[in-house]
Amino acid sequence: MLRIGLTGGIGSGKSSVAQMLKDLGAVHIDADLVGHASYISGSDGFKKVVRAFGEDIIGNDGEIDRAKLGPLVFSDPNNLSILNAILHPIIYEMIKVELDKMDNHENRVSVVEAAILIEAGWQSLFDEIWVVDAHLENVLERIMDRNKVTREQALERVESQISSEERNSHGDVLIENNGGLLELEKSVSNLWNDRILESGA
Ligand code: ATP
Repeated sequence: MLRIGLTGGIGSGKSSVAQMLKDLGAVHIDADLVGHASYISGSDGFKKVVRAFGEDIIGNDGEIDRAKLGPLVFSDPNNLSILNAILHPIIYEMIKVELDKMDNHENRVSVVEAAILIEAGWQSLFDEIWVVDAHLENVLERIMDRNKVTREQALERVESQISSEERNSHGDVLIENNGGLLELEKSVSNLWNDRILESGA
C-alpha cells in the first residue's frame, strides 16, 4: 500500500484533495481526529496532559475540555510546545498503527491528511509527501468565506503557521490550488493516473 502524507496550510485545500483521493479509491485518515483521540479519558495522552496542565482542564464529562485547554496553549508558545511534545509522538504511533491495519491487498493507496505533518516531523510515516498550496489572496478569501472572519483574523491564522516555502520544500508532489474546484479535481485525477496507476501501486 502506498502511503501518502497530505499537508498544506490553512485553507489551502487539503480536505478537498483528500476527499477527491477518497473518491478515487484511497483509504483515508484525518490526523485531526487521531489528535482528538490521543487524549481521551484514561489514555496515556490524557494522563500526561492533565499532569502538565492540571485537573481544571477536565470537563464535566470527564474528558479534557478543548475550550479550557485551548486558551492555555494558544496564549503561550511554551505551553503549546509542552502539549505538542506530549501528543505528537502519541499521534505518530496511532497513525502508524492505523496504517499498518489498513495495509492489505485491497487497499492500494492510503492518504493521511495532516496540517502539521512537517512541523511535527511525521515524514517517516510516508512513502510520499503531497503538499497543497495556494496564493495568499485565495487562501484569505476561502478562510474569510468559510470561517466568517475578517481579513486580519484570516491573515493572523496563516501567519501562525510555517511558511508555504518551507512546507513546499518538503513535498514530493506540489498541488497548486489556485483555480476552481473542477480544476483541482483535474489535477488530482491526473496525479492519480500518472503517479499511482502508472506506477502499478
Ligand atoms: P483547513 O486546514 O483550514 O481545514 P484545508 O486546507 O483542509 O483547510 P479545504 O477545507 O479543502 O482546505 O478548503 C478550504 C475552503 O476553501 C473550503 O470551504 C473549500 O470548499 C474551499 N476551496 C478549496 N479549494 C477551492 C477551490 N479551488 N475553489 C474554490 N473553493 C475552494
